[in-house]
Amino acid sequence: MQMGAHIIHSDKNRVILCTMKPTLQGATVYGDFVLNTLLAHPLFVYLNLTVTKVWKVLFFRDTHNHFGILDNGTISLSLNLANYLPPKIQNYFLKILTRFIHRLADYQSQKQQKLQDEMHILELEDMEEEVREYSRQFIKSDIANTLFSKIPDLLRVYRENKSEADGIRREIEQRENIRRLQHLDLQQQGSENSDSEGDQEQLGHLKRKLSKCQEWDFPERIGKVQEYSDGILELINFLCEVLAQDEHIRDEVISLKKNCLKYLNKSYYSEEAQFKEPTIALRLHDLFCRECHIVSDLDLFNDQLLSSPEIPCAYCLTPFPANYLEHKLIRFVHDNLTFSQIQDLYCRKCSKAKNDLLPKNCGCSGHFAIDKAVSHNPFLENYQMLVQNLRLISQQFQMHFLSNVIESLQPS
Ligand SMILES: [Zn+2]
Ligand SMILES: [Zn+2]
Repeated sequence: MQMGAHIIHSDKNRVILCTMKPTLQGATVYGDFVLNTLLAHPLFVYLNLTVTKVWKVLFFRDTHNHFGILDNGTISLSLNLANYLPPKIQNYFLKILTRFIHRLADYQSQKQQKLQDEMHILELEDMEEEVREYSRQFIKSDIANTLFSKIPDLLRVYRENKSEADGIRREIEQRENIRRLQHLDLQQQGSENSDSEGDQEQLGHLKRKLSKCQEWDFPERIGKVQEYSDGILELINFLCEVLAQDEHIRDEVISLKKNCLKYLNKSYYSEEAQFKEPTIALRLHDLFCRECHIVSDLDLFNDQLLSSPEIPCAYCLTPFPANYLEHKLIRFVHDNLTFSQIQDLYCRKCSKAKNDLLPKNCGCSGHFAIDKAVSHNPFLENYQMLVQNLRLISQQFQMHFLSNVIESLQPS
């Protein structure tokens, strides 16, 4: 941007600017100046832009994953990633990030105050580097110490809970099998089915115990496209992924991750120590709201809309008709299938493109397949998981046509 600010993010609804101003007052005045200059331009005269939020500090990964401290000192936390971690581990994840951002904002405010009191106006410009240095130190000392002292305990509790949950699951299964057999026997004898109170109570007790242990399990959510297996490993992966968004502290985050992985006997370069995006964007475009007449896009998995019984318009909150959304979802499936049909096929062995329609295999005997690196498409890359998720959506919202379309798809 020519006026000196950086655009962190922009979409149809908002623009997030980094003003590079060391004080909130400076940032607010500068924000107004940018808006006034922009709106005075004949090209943008019909835009309606106002400043709605000012952050002291902001970590921005994407629209669904950002956290920071607002100008009034409150924390704004929007981390969709956290929802994919086991609830108990989620707490640690959020606690560490919240503490980090609070301490960063406090340090920044103290520095500002000190410099202003001493009338060192020019040095305000150098404050940014000092804040960065503070975050580096905070990661090296505070976050590292917290994690190093917590990981052994976390590991122990995590493993204990896992094996306890497995044991309880087996016991519940055994008891239910026995109950079923007893019911069958009673039916054959012509007597009525009745569970003894003691049995029911014990089963209820086991289920309560299981649900407590399951707080350490990865939650089942519509939209999940990864199967994670180790909660503590993913805590490290998720945490370092979020922190590493700031390129100025990336080296410290990498060394933090390497050290944490030593506790788990994993290599930094191993496949399992790589962060894997828990979900993908299932974006429905150009949804027309009959109530407010605004056309908007929806990201079904990330907007966290699927827990509610109806999916609302983002502006007036009127629910979209279910058959309209169903039609949009079927279009989404068809469009992506068409995309996959028109891609070139490449030999897996010699990487040559298939240039004839008839042969099943390449001349070198290799199989033909779509090259996912060439035809980047989230639908194809996560095909099986996506089909499974669409099936769950069709069940949740009782979309029978969508369900038929999904059932007709063969796993590739
Ligand atoms: Zn609306
Ligand atoms: Zn070949």
